[in-house]
Amino acid sequence: MDYLEQLNSPQREGVENLEGPTMIIAGAGSGKTRVLTYRIAHLIRSKNVDPFSILALTFTNKAAKEMRARIESVAGTDARNLWMGTFHSIFARILRSEADKLGYPSNFTIYDTDDSKSLIRNIVKEKGLDDKVYKHNLVYNRISGAKNNLISWQNYLNNPLYISEDEQALKPKMGIIYKEYVERCFRSGAMDFDDLLFNTNVLFRDHLDVLNKYQQRFKYVMIDEFQDTNISQYLITKRLASVHQNICVVGDDAQSIYAFRGANIQNILNFEKDYPDLRVIKLEQNYRSTQNIVNAANSVILKNSAQLQKNIWTDNDNGELVNLIKSTSDNEEGRLVASSIFEDRNNKKLENRDFAILYRTNSQSRSMEEALRKMNIPYRIFGGLSFYQRKEIKDLLSYLRFVINPNDEQSFRRIINLPKRGIGASSVDKIIVAGFENDMGIFEVLENIRKFISGRTANAVENFVTLIKTFKIKLERADAYETAAFIAKQSGLLRDLYDDKTIEGLNRYENVQELLNAIKEFVDTPEQEDKSLEAFIADVALLTDANKENPADTDYVNMMTIHSAKGLEFKHVYVVGMEEDLFPSQMMLNSRADLEEERRLFYVALTRAMEKVTLSYALTRYRFGRLKSCEPSRFIEEIAPEFVKVDRKFNNSEPMGKLNSGQGNSFYARNLVAQRKAENKVPPGKKLHTPSPDFAPSDTRKLDTGMRVEHPKFGFGDVKKMDVEGANRKATIEFENFGEKTLLLTFAKLRIM
Ligand code: ATP
Ligand code: MG
Repeated sequence: MDYLEQLNSPQREGVENLEGPTMIIAGAGSGKTRVLTYRIAHLIRSKNVDPFSILALTFTNKAAKEMRARIESVAGTDARNLWMGTFHSIFARILRSEADKLGYPSNFTIYDTDDSKSLIRNIVKEKGLDDKVYKHNLVYNRISGAKNNLISWQNYLNNPLYISEDEQALKPKMGIIYKEYVERCFRSGAMDFDDLLFNTNVLFRDHLDVLNKYQQRFKYVMIDEFQDTNISQYLITKRLASVHQNICVVGDDAQSIYAFRGANIQNILNFEKDYPDLRVIKLEQNYRSTQNIVNAANSVILKNSAQLQKNIWTDNDNGELVNLIKSTSDNEEGRLVASSIFEDRNNKKLENRDFAILYRTNSQSRSMEEALRKMNIPYRIFGGLSFYQRKEIKDLLSYLRFVINPNDEQSFRRIINLPKRGIGASSVDKIIVAGFENDMGIFEVLENIRKFISGRTANAVENFVTLIKTFKIKLERADAYETAAFIAKQSGLLRDLYDDKTIEGLNRYENVQELLNAIKEFVDTPEQEDKSLEAFIADVALLTDANKENPADTDYVNMMTIHSAKGLEFKHVYVVGMEEDLFPSQMMLNSRADLEEERRLFYVALTRAMEKVTLSYALTRYRFGRLKSCEPSRFIEEIAPEFVKVDRKFNNSEPMGKLNSGQGNSFYARNLVAQRKAENKVPPGKKLHTPSPDFAPSDTRKLDTGMRVEHPKFGFGDVKKMDVEGANRKATIEFENFGEKTLLLTFAKLRIM
């Protein structure tokens, strides 16, 4: 068989021995996923096994898709009928066909996290409990944790451990909320994410006929990334495989990176106990990476005490040493990484898709994205949205936009009830319609709300108007950063995110902080003369608008968190933000176990690379609006030094001029905004003018020397000179407070006095 020849002998053992339990725990890049893929192909092609009887569980949808394509290429289109996907997707499918057994409709709704949280909020309110004690995020986490440990509300209410924990935390009603939450979901015919696993366990536990049916159906069960399964997932597969015992799991304890979500490495050890006839296969040859990368990764993981012994080697070339880029700031880091990609791509004739930029937290994508955009390098963010598309970023930007322009309907719709202030969709529509009908701007309607709406909603709107007015005052008096930070705080947006202690919540909080950092950096840039929020928003408009990607174009630089890179491979990998407190993350320094999980994450990052790894760190970075100096990550030093080198070119000790003189440099910083900025220069220390209340630019065709004008920002001035240059008319105006300026009349908004 041709495909069997593409395997080494232990891999072949894994592919050809189809009966009985098998476990492959082996290092990165050793072909574990390949074994699973070929094993499935082999079952279908050589053993004529019906694809309907094969169940393959992967960690992400992307992995499932890739695996399916690979299997089809070996075994043909029959492979389409495989049961392959993530735990959640496969068991949602099974639950749909068995829903009646559990009393659910087969078209049950799946609640996402937001749905669940808002239900919890309602329950807390209805029960008259204090929502500052029973914060919805906290309650949600508590319930989710219980479900993932297979603790039903009945068990919860009878479990002394949970009871005493809740009492100590002064939240004795937690179990009651859990009960009500489950009952309400049930009555709504809805399951949340955790229910998909929890209810599958219930289904298989209480309905042996159903269990038996699936045990008969799935003659072969396979799990990739086994090290990251939790107890609930483990039990489901154990039940399913208990008749045929044809279960094959592959994984790598050194890549276990989801302990924080309840994944349990103990599952690997249990597996040996649960299946005494287990066939254990070792894979030691790495096919993915160069010698230097394999050795560098091995030298790092050795520092962990809790690791199964492995001996990974490769036949591949030595390749390049791990490359180190040092920059002075995070924005410079973005530029250096983008330039380095640009050069390697051209010099080595690579495609964009051969590159990946990996980071520890989502918020780090911002400086990378901006640099790639400036250099016209297309990129795509996996497992998430690009920075300026993220909900929390759009939310804050909408506030900022609305304060600048309180007639902006889109921003208005986004923020009027955010955080919740009891202004519903129908009131919002009324406001918009009132604006249309009376030819009023949105803010004018809001200011006169009692003419259109009465009662509680009107009160809420009035409070909102007061809030926006406070923001407007700030806007006039302070720079972009102070204004934005003030708005983020006083609007309640930051507080809402801060209270959310889930991983997602934390991520969102960090993103908003990162936006504030970007604004601070903008304000602190010496060449940036106009430090107003308006100037920043004009800048950002171009960034958010830059999604002019051609969907047919598939050649992108890959950007993602290290967590989402698991199982994938790329020719060149950049791991950015290699600094203490960022990676390892500050939150993971509390215990040795946490630090070891961070180190495994670093191991995952290094082992994604086939040909070259570049680590990069910045000496300073804005955190919480302050420029902080950073120390290089301890992980850099943990790589045995013979496998690392400092990049000679992309390094901050090189004068920037030299860097900028290459081909890539026409991309730097020269963008449309610059023009607009030239018009808006504010000398340091000068406040922009607040236009007269009735400011409306008049027709500048009539403008002539000697006339007195008002400019929305520079205030009053006298026209000294008029010029015509091609199609452009320009006026040189002596402003009282800002001195002489030459303005293009197509852009300048001037009022003739
Ligand atoms: P990870 O731990 O990162 O998930 P893995 O053990 O699943 O890695 P694979 O992704 O299956 O490893 O394989 C790594 C790379 O090596 C892939 O590009 C794969 O095609 C290649 N490979 C695996 N086995 C062989 C082989 N016997 N001959 C040639 N290439 C191989
Ligand atoms: Mg794999």
